Amino acid sequence: MIRKLFALIATAGVLAAGCAAPAVPKAGGVLQVVATHSILGDLVKNVGGDKIALLVLVGAGGDAHTFEPTPQDMEQIAKAGLLFENGLEFEGWLDAAFTASDSKAQRVAVSAGIEPLAADEEGEAHAADEADDHSAEDEDHDGEADPHIWQSVSNWILAAKNVRDALIKADAANATTYEANAAAYTAELEKLDADIFAQANALSAAQRILFTSHDALGYFAARYGFEVAGSGLASLSTEAADPSAAEVAELVQAIKAAGVPAVFTENTHNSQLMDQIALEAGVSLAPELYTDALGEPGSAGETYLKMMRNNISVIAGALGK
Ligand SMILES: [Zn+2]
Repeated sequence: MIRKLFALIATAGVLAAGCAAPAVPKAGGVLQVVATHSILGDLVKNVGGDKIALLVLVGAGGDAHTFEPTPQDMEQIAKAGLLFENGLEFEGWLDAAFTASDSKAQRVAVSAGIEPLAADEEGEAHAADEADDHSAEDEDHDGEADPHIWQSVSNWILAAKNVRDALIKADAANATTYEANAAAYTAELEKLDADIFAQANALSAAQRILFTSHDALGYFAARYGFEVAGSGLASLSTEAADPSAAEVAELVQAIKAAGVPAVFTENTHNSQLMDQIALEAGVSLAPELYTDALGEPGSAGETYLKMMRNNISVIAGALGK
């Protein structure tokens, strides 16, 4: 009799959930969420608010390209109900960690539906489908997708929708909260996008040329009308080896030819390389940009909104001279 009752309750539970998502692990009734890196964690926090328990694997200032999860990280992955990741191979370590942790979490790539940029062999970013169109005549391009989607605010608005939809699917009881949080945050993102355009448009086209530590700003350049003319590592990942003396000399020549007053370094890569290149090219090294991670709490990059405002101010200030 008791067993029958349990079966009935279980059936009723399934019916009540309707065709919603399969059950997602919760602890104490709160959805356990993991985000792979600090910038993504900030987005998930803004949409999930106080309805989720959030853990971020690669924290402020950390480099998700080169991250190695600890046993504690593996435990967190194992306990998660939802796992938000960037996708586009930004987290090269994640698949192995996920398998090894035996996690049952639902994985959500927030880059889903975002048009990826691809890098050709010169590291120049362009639309991935454009690369496909020209693949016959340009067989050498490696077609590697640029993972740094958050550098265009319009992409991040799409990512916010992906986060909202995944949270609602996993935790329908709090759907109205997730919808309201996402709507409020999207309004802030739209204002941020307009503000970046305004500061970018104050520069002439000839001034909008970027040299950075690695190729992190492709989406920023594509959206706000800049050109990424070169980078210290000449790679979409900070895993790349330091450049040879000949490559440094070539980059220094490119910087001189572009006539820029400054080059940029990034918070997730040591500044020595770009410092040396700036010195050799006779240009300034601008204050560091927040590219692949938030800054520490209290810094100008402690949230996504702040880091993007900081970056455009640093860029406009350094190039507008
Ligand atoms: Zn990067």
